[in-house]
Amino acid sequence: MASTAATATHVGLDVERIRADFPALHQEVHGRPLVYLDNAATTQKPRRVIDTVTHFYEHDCANVHRGVHLLSQRATVAYERARTTIKDHLGAADSREIVFTRGTTEAVNLVASSFVRPRIGPGDEILITGMEHHSNIVPWQLLCEATGAHLKVVPINDEGELELDRYAELLSDRTKIVGVVHVSNALGTVNPVKTMIELAHARSIPVLVDGAQAVPHAAVDVRELDCDFYAFSGHKTYGPTGIGALYGKREHLLEMVPYQGGGDMILSVTFDETIYAEPPHRFEAGTPNIEGAIGLAAALDYLSSLGLDAVAAHEAELLETATEAVLAIPGVRLIGAAEHRAGALSFVMDGIHPHDIGTILDSEGVAIRAGHHCAQPVMQRFGISATVRASFGIYNTMDEIERLVEGLHKVREVFG
Ligand code: PMP
Repeated sequence: MASTAATATHVGLDVERIRADFPALHQEVHGRPLVYLDNAATTQKPRRVIDTVTHFYEHDCANVHRGVHLLSQRATVAYERARTTIKDHLGAADSREIVFTRGTTEAVNLVASSFVRPRIGPGDEILITGMEHHSNIVPWQLLCEATGAHLKVVPINDEGELELDRYAELLSDRTKIVGVVHVSNALGTVNPVKTMIELAHARSIPVLVDGAQAVPHAAVDVRELDCDFYAFSGHKTYGPTGIGALYGKREHLLEMVPYQGGGDMILSVTFDETIYAEPPHRFEAGTPNIEGAIGLAAALDYLSSLGLDAVAAHEAELLETATEAVLAIPGVRLIGAAEHRAGALSFVMDGIHPHDIGTILDSEGVAIRAGHHCAQPVMQRFGISATVRASFGIYNTMDEIERLVEGLHKVREVFG
């Protein structure tokens, strides 16, 4: 198997240098050097992000948008500059199209409450896919319960790909929104979202894309996709937890009712009437996660500085190598063998529960995820309760894949 150095030269990422930027990677777990392959759950943070958040606390800590004093001005400038960084990263036209949220989950809930709810009624439909994360299922079920609308689901085939013909058939005059995951966290499938958006738009149906597993792995351009909404989470993109963003087309955001009420989302308040602030502040009630937003911008700057094409190429090579190596182990079955995959490798081993595999791998210093990955309908589709998921990031190496494979051989030995 190729060495780390060879990989780095081959794909253009200096992985050793990148690894040096991530303090958490340099530790031992159960006496073995950590191999962190749980990046789809959350990523480790580079020194630049840690330092940016620390700098905020040490120098600029103040509330935003309301102080006349210098620290508040500095905090406000940094917070709004972070919005611009996110706008640039996603290729949006206007930073007013970026709403800070707690993450993807809150972004989907915001669209459900503020955009779809006022437009939907009994008998209307919401169309999602069979490979959504629970965060792009449950908010729509809540909305259906409250309004009498119906949830429709695009099926997935045995390879873990969407059945596009069925998608086209399921779009109807009653469909009020399509919600689709860009890259599946449970299967690694990359969905043809651009085509899906074109098909929906041909019938004037807006589309929300869940980009939680796409933004960390490749360049995303919301204008090129022409999506109506795009959501992602900072912590899966080498940024802090508790922060993420929703991109929304300006024309939609301008029409949307507030998500929550409180400070910072108003122009004026009397007991008779409140006039809301313009978007995006209309959707950011209360003191925001200021240091999170600034840290997220630092993370995106860091990722961009590596070159997103090089990031995608490096991770594609890791995924391909890992897939081949894991499949060569007796009794392994891949869950999700789509032609286009990114980031994650999901599999089961005959007769061995994923949690047992996860525990043995942990004892070998290899961190993976075992479970349903908050995508229980995907597990139901494949007739299983859980998978083992190895997910890759910019700092992973071919040597680490070897450690994963060694660990899986150990699992085989233990279980005979
Ligand atoms: N969508 C996908 C595809 C995800 O992988 C996740 C996180 N596992 C989410 C949504 C939810 O993200 P968060 O918990 O950061 O809101």
